[in-house]
Amino acid sequence: MLLNVPKLPEGNSEFQLEDRPNYFQLSGEDFQLVEPVRFDCHVWKSGREVIVRGGLQSAFRLTCSRCLEPFTFAVTTTVFADYRPRSRQVVEEALELEPAELDTRTYAHDEIDLRLLVRDHLSLELPMKPLCREDCAGLCPHCGVNLNTQRCSCVEQQVDPRLAILQQVKLRTRT
Ligand SMILES: [Zn+2]
Ligand SMILES: [Zn+2]
Repeated sequence: MLLNVPKLPEGNSEFQLEDRPNYFQLSGEDFQLVEPVRFDCHVWKSGREVIVRGGLQSAFRLTCSRCLEPFTFAVTTTVFADYRPRSRQVVEEALELEPAELDTRTYAHDEIDLRLLVRDHLSLELPMKPLCREDCAGLCPHCGVNLNTQRCSCVEQQVDPRLAILQQVKLRTRT
């Protein structure tokens, strides 16, 4: 996902970009990008300034934080970034003048590497507490079975401690 700035036409242009998931090196202990990344990319160029915006689509493989099962997490998000050639003066100007919501970035050697932009925006979509589904029942805290797919008898066996005391009292009065 590279844009060669001198080759871009002035004004608006559009690109459909796609790359394999491992190109983005987005994987960790409990997440992995598993689907190709599709980037519907709208570019606006004026001289050496380039504005990139568009929609991103891909999917992660995550582990559910409740039932510990792996699941696929689809991601769609938008990006909006302003690229300027890397030079100290331009960077300083950009930091002071740009509104906070605009992602201002720099490029060098006439080439914009969109991989970093895409990586940043996709990783922002990673949930803090991944859930395979909203109402995931999780694991039984006593025997560990997955309560989404199995039942266990732990709940019935468990006796409320207050009831246990009552039972003892009854037993005592009977003797
Ligand atoms: Zn789950
Ligand atoms: Zn159980």
